[in-house]
Amino acid sequence: MSSIDEIKARIDILDLVNEAGVKLRRSGRNYLGFCPFHENKRTPAFVVWPESGTWRCFGECNEGGDIFKFLMKKEGIDFKEALQRLAERAGVTLERLQPERPEQREEHERLRTLLEDAMQFYRHHLFNTAAGKTALDYLLQKRKLTLPTIEAWGLGYAPPGYEGLLKHFTGRGYSEQDLLDAGLVSIIEDQGGSRRLLDRFRHRIMIPIRDEQGRLAGFGARIHPEDTRQDQAKFINTSETPLFSKGRLLYGLDRARKPIRSADQAVIVEGYLDVIALHQAGFENVISPMGTALTEDQLRLLKRFTRRIVLALDPDTAGQKAILRGLEAARASMDREQELRFDARGLLRHEARLQADLRVANLPDGLDPDEIVERNPDEWKQLIAEARPIVAHVLETLLHNRNADDPKVKTDIVQQMLPLIEDLPNPVERDAYRQMLARRLKVDERSLLTRTAPILPRARPGRTPPRQSQPAALPVRSPSESVESACLSLLLRRPDLLPRLDRRLQEASLAPLTTSDFGYTAYQLLLELLQKALEQDEAELTQFVQRHAAETLHETYAGLIAQPPPKGNDDRLLDELTRQILQLRRQALNDHLNQFRFLQEEAQQQGNTTLVAEYQKIVHDYTRLLNELDAARKKMSANRRE
Ligand SMILES: [Zn+2]
Repeated sequence: MSSIDEIKARIDILDLVNEAGVKLRRSGRNYLGFCPFHENKRTPAFVVWPESGTWRCFGECNEGGDIFKFLMKKEGIDFKEALQRLAERAGVTLERLQPERPEQREEHERLRTLLEDAMQFYRHHLFNTAAGKTALDYLLQKRKLTLPTIEAWGLGYAPPGYEGLLKHFTGRGYSEQDLLDAGLVSIIEDQGGSRRLLDRFRHRIMIPIRDEQGRLAGFGARIHPEDTRQDQAKFINTSETPLFSKGRLLYGLDRARKPIRSADQAVIVEGYLDVIALHQAGFENVISPMGTALTEDQLRLLKRFTRRIVLALDPDTAGQKAILRGLEAARASMDREQELRFDARGLLRHEARLQADLRVANLPDGLDPDEIVERNPDEWKQLIAEARPIVAHVLETLLHNRNADDPKVKTDIVQQMLPLIEDLPNPVERDAYRQMLARRLKVDERSLLTRTAPILPRARPGRTPPRQSQPAALPVRSPSESVESACLSLLLRRPDLLPRLDRRLQEASLAPLTTSDFGYTAYQLLLELLQKALEQDEAELTQFVQRHAAETLHETYAGLIAQPPPKGNDDRLLDELTRQILQLRRQALNDHLNQFRFLQEEAQQQGNTTLVAEYQKIVHDYTRLLNELDAARKKMSANRRE
């Protein structure tokens, strides 16, 4: 995940726009207000799409972008400065996210070697000490792990003393600072105020945690089964270190990545030992977050391997309850939570933003995944296959053991479900879930519809009531990042296609490619650089971009040129590129059009005839543009077929 993505994920564009003094009101999936960049207090033409974190002014500016562009325009600053300010606000350290510097890489290598040594130290204690023997017996007998599995996953045992590891490793020449940096020891202050070091992990089963590339990053530590002290957490992890960042790691991903890719599905369970047991049973597409938190970073990481993700949550644990949590909580507070747990709203938001398919598998009461798979592997397969989309899962859970014929129960469930359904970005899905809800509760679907439109202006008494059908809701679609990145990725690797694309567009009486065809600031800037490089006849494009891009664009640039090499001959590539650019334009135009249709309808309901006329004219203009674009598209595809 690039630092740009990380900042975008952490900052809510609505906050940023609000702070700039723009009053936004919700309209459909989007938010609408007066543009802060041009003078006009009559026509709200400034739209924000929270899902994609983008905005656009449909009025005079006719311009849009993401949080960076907004701040750049608002404050009159350049990309680099906007990036620095927003990074600070988001708590993202830009420096740390740069590729490892040589001296940093060396330090990381040293820490990784130390961690590998520590793993051997813990392994030795598991197999060769009396206290370790009880831990080993637990793994073999209670958890039904085999010796080869225990070896393969590098499990170990941390002895109970306070200084066993500390003495062992300082004796072997490691510095106390190294041990601290690796997260193997902690500092405490004793009563006299002097600081001393002691082993962080004591009397625990040790589970090495590797990053997705298989590099050791830290440890998870489970309480010893015979440890009866009340004040001990069941699981602890390495504290945050240069190598260990629990929001970015997924346990088992180094082993699961290939199986996930080939199954095109990842299954998330809650415990490290469950991951191991499932892999042992042949279900190798299973991973676990660190503790119970599941972050958007982790989902983003996972998305590199699959979009289809199943959460297999134990109904007993916090995870399952938490998925229902927040249904009644204020949306605002949910949006601000950075580390979302398994709560339905947060997950749905991630799902939409990441274009992922998240489902929930319902595990039978009181059974852990490893017990299910031990009892009957087919049962596990079945449970995963029956995983339901989040909304359906929430509904079934709410209905569980309740009488759906009781009007009170109906009302309660509708009140909990509707906000969730309204939040879905896809209107088709929204309709489908409303129907499902109506069917399950045996209520009239229309009664659900009327509740979902609080944002629409109420008809004034004495005026024509609003028509039965809903006014055209604002468009859900937002600038499509994937199409934008595909176009730019191709152009950066094949800059020679850009003049040919422009020629094609001009032949069809369309404008050449401009930065406003893209919605994301980093892409806009890279296209600008590319155009400059071509103008100046730069032979070595890569060097030009590297010389001129703000350092922070390198990451985006590297990500774009690292995509799979383009396939097909030049004509095919050009066809595809043209198609995608026109698709972006069509989508933007469509958004404009729907926006103004919505406003027109609203003005009509308010009886403001001047505004209606104004909007009508704009709608007319956009319709004409859209028709022109479609005609050009048709002509171009006919030409291609000849
Ligand atoms: Zn404007």
